[in-house]
Amino acid sequence: PLRWGLIGASTIAREWMIDAIRSTGGTVASVMSSDRDRATTYGKANGIPHATTSLDALLEEVDAVYISTTNELHHDQVLRSARAGRHILCEKPLALTVGEAREMVDACRAAGVVLGTNHHLRNAGTHRAMREAIAAGRIGRPLFARVFHAVYLPAHLQGWRLTSPNAGAGVVLDITVHDADTLRFVLADDPVEVTALTQSAGMSQGNVEDGAMGAIRFKSGLLAQFHDAFTTAYAKTGFEVHGTDGSLIGTNCMTQKPVGDVLLRTAAGEELLSIDRTNLYERGVARFTAAVNGEGEPAATGEDGIWSLAVAAAALESAKTSRVTEIDPFQ
Ligand code: NDP
Repeated sequence: PLRWGLIGASTIAREWMIDAIRSTGGTVASVMSSDRDRATTYGKANGIPHATTSLDALLEEVDAVYISTTNELHHDQVLRSARAGRHILCEKPLALTVGEAREMVDACRAAGVVLGTNHHLRNAGTHRAMREAIAAGRIGRPLFARVFHAVYLPAHLQGWRLTSPNAGAGVVLDITVHDADTLRFVLADDPVEVTALTQSAGMSQGNVEDGAMGAIRFKSGLLAQFHDAFTTAYAKTGFEVHGTDGSLIGTNCMTQKPVGDVLLRTAAGEELLSIDRTNLYERGVARFTAAVNGEGEPAATGEDGIWSLAVAAAALESAKTSRVTEIDPFQ
């Protein structure tokens, strides 16, 4: 079994990833926190045999690491893990700048280790069904996409995401990155430019945005709009693609759970697509583990993580400058 180390005593690891690792045959050997008491408490609560504040100590004990610290720490932790020859599944956004993310991908390639980005939505049955339907030509040529990803940030997560620009706060680095990755996956197309407006409605502090809307142009010419927020408790999520010969209407599918439906509407009428309900995070860990064993690639690679960050960075730049901004993953 793959022996994992958790870098970061985080909520996402506790709520989803520890179970995903165990249910796909891995073991969680160690957890690292910046705080000794938190490491110990977290280790005990989650049945993890070792708890440490030393990254080097953790790296000695494991084959792979899952990094889910706050966003400013991912860069250094990936570089150190790669240098130690450990495979890495890293949370999104990979880093705070595209240049740093590029460095991380290069370091993993040089070290010969697998790097995955934990973009869970690629693993959703809903999005996989939409991708297949588009590839099979069922909606003709895709012209427009609409992403509805305005949610309410639960009270227990109302911390650094709202207050700490240094940690990579804000809804764009948190949620727009997921939209960007899901659009690239479903459409099998890459984004070219973006225009965005952001909002600070009172949940976040200072200059941190807690809502955003924007539009992205893709290489094919397709236009995609996105709506992301921490502040809307009653909105429904969704993901739609509208083509020359049909529309795909995904509802309740921008979520961590294997739920949601996809309706296909064409001249022939309406049809609900059949959806695989596999746990998104389990599928992500399974794909990562297979990649470590030489079979295929992680569901979302490091390169995919660079792309989603490039979209988010360009959206923030656009909001700041009031200009349409080029998306450049190679800067
Ligand atoms: P948390 O706030 O739960 O954890 C982040 C860090 O905060 C931890 O590493 C920990 O530091 C510190 N921390 C945790 N609890 C406390 C506490 N009680 N007091 C002080 N510090 C604490 O973040 P999330 O789990 O929500 O997010 C972590 C990462 O995962 C982010 O990069 C985020 O973008 C990503 N994420 C991805 C999701 C996905 O579906 N792909 C979903 C949610 C988050 P230390 O480790 O030093 O103890």
